[in-house]
Amino acid sequence: MNQPIYSLVIPIFNEEENIIEMYNRLTQVIEKLDGKTEIILIDDGSSDHSLNMIRELHQQDSRVCYLSLGRNFGHQIAVTAGLNFVQGKSIIVMDADLQDPPELILEMIEKWQQGYQIVYAQRVSRQQEKWSKRLTAYLFYRILRRLTKVDIPVDTGDFCLMDRQVVNILNSMPERNRYVRGLRAWVGFSQTSVLFTRSPRYAGDVKYTFSKSLSLAIDGIISFSRVPLRLATYLGLISAIVALIMILLVLYWRVFTPVTSLIGYTLITIAMFFLGSVQLICIGILGEYIGRIYEEVKGRPLYTLKETGGLVKNYIDSNLPN
Ligand code: UDP
Ligand code: MG
Repeated sequence: MNQPIYSLVIPIFNEEENIIEMYNRLTQVIEKLDGKTEIILIDDGSSDHSLNMIRELHQQDSRVCYLSLGRNFGHQIAVTAGLNFVQGKSIIVMDADLQDPPELILEMIEKWQQGYQIVYAQRVSRQQEKWSKRLTAYLFYRILRRLTKVDIPVDTGDFCLMDRQVVNILNSMPERNRYVRGLRAWVGFSQTSVLFTRSPRYAGDVKYTFSKSLSLAIDGIISFSRVPLRLATYLGLISAIVALIMILLVLYWRVFTPVTSLIGYTLITIAMFFLGSVQLICIGILGEYIGRIYEEVKGRPLYTLKETGGLVKNYIDSNLPN
């Protein structure tokens, strides 16, 4: 009876300047919803006052539940953790920095009520983000699409609405590499988009540093494509062809021209570096896949929980601290 219809999943990592404003804007939107709503805030090992503020919100407002991860596990894991505990029929994932406008939720819910099971927010433009971020994001989403058979829509982040059925499937996926927007596309079902302009952060610095974004990009590609492995094969084939041509050339020079004039250190050095780099690239590609197999095989839990508030023990019972 008392089950919420709507669940909001919001990962938080050092967002003390944004939490109150985000909560205020969100509650205005929630007032307009036609069903009971729960807000699940996930503290991803923040080192500022975020967790205290989350606790206070939980005390003031019974709709707010929270979980606090044992340390910083990263955005994708934080979202995954939140999804593990949602109770609603319609689940919305959004960022805490107000780059994802809460008002868009109403539009997403309308689409859900029309029967769509996944409604993702697609950016038409990114206001005031650095050109380097805009360019790399633009290129990445297009390269990823070419490399994989899964229909991962371009320019979409994790801001989306998912039906309970979709979340159940995501929760049942055992894999450790959680590229949530890819997994969401992989599920299939009826999907649609709502368009929005990504506003600048309300306050604070980006938590996705360049290296975090790069590793998210590599995770996305490796989890959804085997093309890089094939690339290694192609690189090997190309260097074999180059080697064959070189053998013929060297033989030709040896027989028909004075030896010393053409074959020298330059040629040998170039060949050495060329082969060396082809080999290293291939080992690197292999390593990316093997590293992931290693992660999967270890089978460690995806995250640890140090504290929770208001959560119902519905999913991973044993994982909830007392
Ligand atoms: N975030 C998180 N863990 C992290 C990094 C980020 O939970 O390790 C959260 C962050 O608090 C925010 C969301 O993920 O709510 C998106 O982060 P950010 O705004 O830095 O990324 P961007 O908007 O540039 O994608
Ligand atoms: Mg942001």
